Amino acid sequence: MSEVCIFCGRSAEAARFMIKGPNGKLLCNDCVSVATIVANQALLDLDNMEMESGSGSSCEYMDEDFEEYFNDDMSEGSDDPEVDDELATSEKPMSCLTPIEITDILDRHVIGQDRAKKALAVAVYNHSKRLRDKTGKIRKSNILLVGPSGTGKTLLAQTLAGILDVPFAIADATSLTEAGYVGDDVENILTRLIDAADGDTKKAERGIIYIDEIDKIARKGENRSITRDVSGEGVQHALLKIIEGADVSVPVAGGRKHPKGDNVLINTKNILFICGGAFEGLKKKDKYKKRTIGFDFGEVSEANTEFGDDDDVAPDTLVRYGMTPELMGRLPVIVSLDDLKEEDLVRILTEPEYALTKEYQELLAADGIDLVFRDDALREIAKVAMEKYTGARGLRAIMEDIMLDIMYNAPSAGSKKCIITKNTVHNKRPTYRAA
Ligand code: ADP
Repeated sequence: MSEVCIFCGRSAEAARFMIKGPNGKLLCNDCVSVATIVANQALLDLDNMEMESGSGSSCEYMDEDFEEYFNDDMSEGSDDPEVDDELATSEKPMSCLTPIEITDILDRHVIGQDRAKKALAVAVYNHSKRLRDKTGKIRKSNILLVGPSGTGKTLLAQTLAGILDVPFAIADATSLTEAGYVGDDVENILTRLIDAADGDTKKAERGIIYIDEIDKIARKGENRSITRDVSGEGVQHALLKIIEGADVSVPVAGGRKHPKGDNVLINTKNILFICGGAFEGLKKKDKYKKRTIGFDFGEVSEANTEFGDDDDVAPDTLVRYGMTPELMGRLPVIVSLDDLKEEDLVRILTEPEYALTKEYQELLAADGIDLVFRDDALREIAKVAMEKYTGARGLRAIMEDIMLDIMYNAPSAGSKKCIITKNTVHNKRPTYRAA
């Protein structure tokens, strides 16, 4: 059985190195770095608390963070019900990481999108302050990411949840309808979050929900039809309650904490909502416009829907697009993502920790073959993706198409080196070398 990091679950083979504790448990190099950052911040907080109180005091959350990060068994409950209650109701901060530390970790997984990273890092940092705030003055910093498909909106939200070690659920706004109509009830999103927290409602109450395709529930034009808009404006109204913060009764399918499956009450006031949407047509002069010919803007004039590369979209522009002012009011942080350029796609192919080229290299290394991607091949793959207007999302399909024959033939080719060139991208024939 392969050895895995008890912090992130990564296998020893996928990590650069592992550190073994006295109890035999392993920690990978990345988690050691994260733990160091958390510990340093906790020490800083301790120092500040001591300076403020003028005496030595203990950092309330440091032990709990360690329990949460390093001893998963403890979250399953102890033998003592009083201890369980205390753990369940204690105010644990989401993270002690500073915004710069958060963007540093995001940088390892997401290429470019620097403004979005900065805004997300600050929003999450403020959110963690809000969780500790007793005055009630800090408002929830739910986030709206605006950018074309395949530019990293979901990846950013997902990576953030991983950094903060909180439950994460993704919902597709297009599948939602108002309660009582055919489709997914808005409340089901919360069920998914509780599932992601393995049935632990208290943990879910501090989680992150990403709602994709939020632009698809925009009001359709200005014409009011006599039938209710149950999958558009109706869903926006239904979302208001859970995004704002409310006690919601939701069915749970089962899990450790609710083996039989029944209804549980979940409070959404500390759940961070990140919404994402392409809002196609908002930009006047971008390549995505090609796919939006004939888009019905209703009353919206082009001048109202333009925004430059460096601007974030204004809430009133989104209201004119068809989002309700109430929903926009609950998504105070609006960030637009940049279009990915050819050089970004090349970096995406090679730089992130789980980059596609690294994945295929790992696969062929298992056959003793050194897989090499020439620079011209990487540029060609990026070019093909650009031509398809799929952003980075299309890269995997392109790579899979190139690599299928190679993975089929390479193990029998008797070669030690397999080189992918620009030509290989089109003819699928790599150059093989003995070593
Ligand atoms: P979106 O939510 O914006 O439509 P995703 O985040 O789902 O796009 O991106 C799809 C895939 O493309 C991701 O899983 C990731 O592999 C890749 N990707 C997209 N943008 C980036 C980026 N900026 N950096 C690294 N990978 C990216």
